[in-house]
Amino acid sequence: MEEVEGVEKELTERDDEVNTLDAKRDEALKEFDASIAAHNKEFKTETGHRETAFATLPERLAAIYNRLAQRSRDGIAVAEVVNGSCSACYVLLRPQVQVNVKKGDEIITCENCTRIMYIRGRESEAAAS
Ligand SMILES: [Zn+2]
Repeated sequence: MEEVEGVEKELTERDDEVNTLDAKRDEALKEFDASIAAHNKEFKTETGHRETAFATLPERLAAIYNRLAQRSRDGIAVAEVVNGSCSACYVLLRPQVQVNVKKGDEIITCENCTRIMYIRGRESEAAAS
């Protein structure tokens, strides 16, 4: 009997502590929910941007893009050419391939990872450096 009383007394004493922890947990959960909501909103916005951009693609390019995006492990169908190499798989592109990517009048894919290659224009290169 005495033992029960002791436990009850301790529970009463620790009531505030428990309440504080409960409040902290609720607050953390609330923050977490808010963070998820914010991310969901951003995801929705970015998905919208993607769809808008996608609608402007020529049909053939859109088809290639979709096929590559589904096939690639990370879902990324394009890769930038950096210092003559594919930035996704780091394979060095043949000089003629680099020239063709620069010209930009046809779709060039990486011979190794098959991602669509793109190269930044001179203006954006200058802006980046
Ligand atoms: Zn590659």
